[in-house]
Amino acid sequence: MEVILGHLGWIEVICGPMFSGKSEELIRRLRRALIARKRVQVFKPVLDNRYSADEIVSHGDARMKSEVVGSASEILARLDWRTQVVGIDEANFLGQDLVGVAQQMADSGKQVLIAGLDTDYMGRPFPPIPDLLCLAESITKTLAICMRCGNPAKHTQRLVESEDLIVVGAAGVYEARCRRCFEPGVPKQEYLDFARPRRLNSTASQPETEPRVPAER
Ligand SMILES: [Zn+2]
Repeated sequence: MEVILGHLGWIEVICGPMFSGKSEELIRRLRRALIARKRVQVFKPVLDNRYSADEIVSHGDARMKSEVVGSASEILARLDWRTQVVGIDEANFLGQDLVGVAQQMADSGKQVLIAGLDTDYMGRPFPPIPDLLCLAESITKTLAICMRCGNPAKHTQRLVESEDLIVVGAAGVYEARCRRCFEPGVPKQEYLDFARPRRLNSTASQPETEPRVPAER
């Protein structure tokens, strides 16, 4: 995040696949805002409780206190008017309404930092990130490392069978893949025992397994 004088509003988007360090980068920028003595509020969707109910957490275990919201409009309802910097993680779970909400906050002079997946498990642009990218002052695309070949990876590969757009999970359910290794949908030939859908129902209560290859750097 850059130093901005006065009350200039601003939208900043950090996007990329899973395991690419989006949350880590968001936390890093928000910490810098705190060091600069800005008033910061952090939000995350209720859908994402993989690691913590009231913190945003990166795969590298960086943490920051956050408020949990059920929808994008709830961010406005819970926004303290004195807040100068608004952080939002996992924007892909908040839907298209986040676009208007982010615009409204930036127009009222707040710096809005948003992190989220830019493509879904089929490799399609994942709302609301595409529109936010057009409206943002600053864009950062993070890449992960392909767990097959080690190249820079822009895709989130789903390893379990489901046609739902949103299946919450981390290692074992998803992995990063490069353009060449990415297989949209489910690679059925790799239907490994640890990745069976029955585990999806219990991911919240079970400790996450570590990625087999260290995630992004
Ligand atoms: Zn690859």
